[in-house]
Amino acid sequence: MSSRAKDEALMGRALELATRALESADVPVGALVVDAEGAVIGEGWNARERDGDPTAHAEVIALRAAAHTRGEWRLDGCTLVVTLEPCTMCAGSLVLARVSRLVFGAYDDKAGAVGSLWDVVRDRRLNHRPEVRAGVRAEEASAQLLAFFAEHR
Ligand SMILES: [Zn+2]
Repeated sequence: MSSRAKDEALMGRALELATRALESADVPVGALVVDAEGAVIGEGWNARERDGDPTAHAEVIALRAAAHTRGEWRLDGCTLVVTLEPCTMCAGSLVLARVSRLVFGAYDDKAGAVGSLWDVVRDRRLNHRPEVRAGVRAEEASAQLLAFFAEHR
């Protein structure tokens, strides 16, 4: 399978995880971490409302799960896949975790920190800068979010 096809398949799983957020009326964002061999080592979905936790974003939950699986905080060699462009907190978290690659779906014009409002992960002042692939299955990720906001706002 090409890396493009692999990324698209992984995004399919992230889109599935995002739907889990709907159970608690959380904004549907899903994320997962795969290691260098392609094994999923952490998954998460936005759980801010469910947990009453401002930091319970899908990416942070997936990174924590992956670090737990690995038994250490360094996630070098890993790829984080998320349905929506990370915010400043999540972009900062993935840099701190030393994730090697980021794959995301839809851009977030209001809070995105990987090209939209800021570009935290590719800041030249950092010595660790993950590779980024943006816009993977972006239409599906956007449709999921738009459907949620049409119903909840
Ligand atoms: Zn975030």
